[in-house]
Amino acid sequence: MASVVLVINAGSSSLKYELLEAESGTTYATGLIEKIGESTSHGRHTSDDTTAEREGSCPDHATAFEWLVEAFHDNGPDLDDVALTAVGHRVVHGGAHFTAPSLITDEVISEIERLIPLAPLHNPGNLEGIRVALAKFPETPQVAVFDTAFHQTLPPAAYTYAIPKAWRVDHRIRRYGFHGTSHAYVSRRTAQLCGLPLDEANVIVLHLGNGASATAVAGGRSVDTSMGLSPLEGLVMGTRPGDLDPSLPAHLARAGLALEDYDRALNKDSGLKGLVGTNDFRELTDLVAAGDEEAVLALGVVAHRLKKYIGAYAAVLGRVDALAFTAGVGEHSPVLRAAALTGLERLGIELDGDANAAATSGEHLISTADSPIAVWVVPTNEELEIARQAAALIAAGAVR
Ligand code: ADP
Repeated sequence: MASVVLVINAGSSSLKYELLEAESGTTYATGLIEKIGESTSHGRHTSDDTTAEREGSCPDHATAFEWLVEAFHDNGPDLDDVALTAVGHRVVHGGAHFTAPSLITDEVISEIERLIPLAPLHNPGNLEGIRVALAKFPETPQVAVFDTAFHQTLPPAAYTYAIPKAWRVDHRIRRYGFHGTSHAYVSRRTAQLCGLPLDEANVIVLHLGNGASATAVAGGRSVDTSMGLSPLEGLVMGTRPGDLDPSLPAHLARAGLALEDYDRALNKDSGLKGLVGTNDFRELTDLVAAGDEEAVLALGVVAHRLKKYIGAYAAVLGRVDALAFTAGVGEHSPVLRAAALTGLERLGIELDGDANAAATSGEHLISTADSPIAVWVVPTNEELEIARQAAALIAAGAVR
C-alpha cells in the first residue's frame, strides 16, 4: 500500500511542507508560509502545477498550520480525503540521543526540548511545528527525522574535540554534524548511480547550499563530516565562515566586541556575504565573470576550502569511489565544481569539462570515462528522504 506522508520543516518564522508518496516519490503538493509573526506573512501552495498565494497576518505557528490546512482544502488535495500514513518532521538537532528517526511521544518532545541549548536557532521552531501538527492530527503517527542522526556513526576519534574534559562532559561539546538527511539520500543515490552495493561504496558528499557541509561516507555510514557542534564549522558558506582560528572570539572580545555581535556576525554576515557582500552564488558568479577582484578572491577562498576537505576525506576513507555535488550551489555551479577539482588528478579525480559545464540541473556524471573516482551531480531530496524514513518506521510497526 502506498504511504502518503506530510513532511513539515518548521523554522522560527517559516513553515515549509510537502505532501508526497514515499514509495514512488510522487509529490502531490508543496508549500511555504514565511514571515510568521511579522506584520504581513506570505503563503504559497503549489499543487497540480498551480500556485496559490496568500498574504495576511499569521501571528504564530498554530495560525500557520491553519493556513496550511486551508490551502490544502482550497487548492487540493484536501487533507480530510487523504489517508495520511504519517507526518514527518525535520528536526535539526537530535544530539547524541537520537541515532534514527523516532516516533514522536511526550518523552521525545522533552528530549528535543532538552537539546535546545545545542540548537537555539532551530529546535524551538521545529518543536512548534510538532506541537501544532499534533494538535491538528492527534491520531496520525508523527515522526521526527533528525539532521544529526546520520552522523551518529562517526567514530570517537572523529567526533571528539581536543578540549578540557569538563566542557565535553558538562556541555555535551562534540562534533554532531548536520544536513544528515541530505547526506544519507545523496550517498545512497550515488552508490546506485555507480552500480555499487551501498555497503561497499565510499562516497564524499559535498552539500553546497546556503549552508554547506562535506561528509565522508564509508559503506553507507558517515565517518567524518565538516559541520561540528553547530552548523558554523567547516566549509565557507553563504553567511557563515566555516573553520576559523579558535582564538578569534577571545581576541575580538579583548577588542571590545560583545558576544551577541560576534555570534550574529558569524551566523549572518560572514562567508560569501562577508567576503563580497552577497550570499547569492549567482551574483558571485556574475561578478567573477566581470573580473571583480573581491569576487575572484571569494571564489578562490570557497574553492580552496572545498579542495582541502576533499583531500582530507580521501585520506579518511582510504579509497574513494565517488564524489557527489548537491544542493543549490553544488547542483548548479560548474564554476565552483571546476575550481575545487582542478589539480586533483593525482588523487584520481578527472573532471570532464564539457560534461561539467552542461550539468546545471538533474543527475549527471561529470568525470571522464577513465577517472578512477566518479564525480556526480545528484540533486538532493530531503523531503523524500524524510517521507521514506517516516514511512519505514511506521511499516516496521511503530504506533503511538
Ligand atoms: P539552502 O537550502 O541551504 O537555503 P539551497 O540549497 O537552496 O540553500 O542553495 C542556495 C544557493 O544556491 C544560493 O547561494 C544560490 O545563489 C545558489 N544557486 C541557486 N541556483 C544557482 C545557479 N543557477 N548558479 C549558481 N548558484 C545557484
